Amino acid sequence: MTGFVIAISALLGLLIGSFLNVVIWRVPRHESVVTPPSRCPGCEQLIRPYDNIPVLSWLILRGKCRSCKTKISARYPLVEAGTAILWGLLAWRFAGSWALPAYLVLAAGLVALSLIDLDTFLLPNRIVYPLTVAVTLLFGVAGVLDGGLGDFRRALLCGLVVFAVFLLLHLISPRGMGFGDVKFSFVLGVALGWVSPATAFLGIFMGFLLGSVVGIGLIATKVKTRKDYVPFGPFMALGTVSALLIGPPILRLLAQ
Ligand SMILES: [Zn+2]
Repeated sequence: MTGFVIAISALLGLLIGSFLNVVIWRVPRHESVVTPPSRCPGCEQLIRPYDNIPVLSWLILRGKCRSCKTKISARYPLVEAGTAILWGLLAWRFAGSWALPAYLVLAAGLVALSLIDLDTFLLPNRIVYPLTVAVTLLFGVAGVLDGGLGDFRRALLCGLVVFAVFLLLHLISPRGMGFGDVKFSFVLGVALGWVSPATAFLGIFMGFLLGSVVGIGLIATKVKTRKDYVPFGPFMALGTVSALLIGPPILRLLAQ
């Protein structure tokens, strides 16, 4: 049964990844994610369904448009494969739990927000707000189905604590911690706190650690200067996903 859930989740993840590519391109441009259908940015040719198969089409076409041979970024198949892997791993980790849908929706949101943050240095409210509402509601439903609202109450409390910490950091240093990151932090705290408060601490800590290590690395290698802005959203997302997937063994090791 677990193998089946993992396979279905990974397969659905491929399709969702394909949709996320549309979201990542269109939401910052304030375009609808539903219509019109996708066109080649080079020749405006409508992309045919058989050229729109996740990962496979890109490989078959060798990363070029069928009509005009414009190069298609490798990021498209990578987002699709990445979402599939992420959904497969989360299904493996949370297969027996009603919380799995909440984690899958969260992961899709994290992929979209991370790439939009890298592109535009923004975490759009048009994604953060619906994601926060949907994920929180799904955890509420999971709490009811799991037969106790204790987990959900703890998750909400962790969300509020994480939000308060980020808000404090923002008030101390508005340049260092953008308000977009503050708004984004609540849903991460909820998702981490559903597992345990220790997982919430670990996830946020790993986000800060990854962010500072990469930030210092970019300045040391002169890719960025001290004045450049390094988006923090992708590191928060990475820290959260890492803590969800490999948190238990790390926490066991730390407890010894
Ligand atoms: Zn083309």
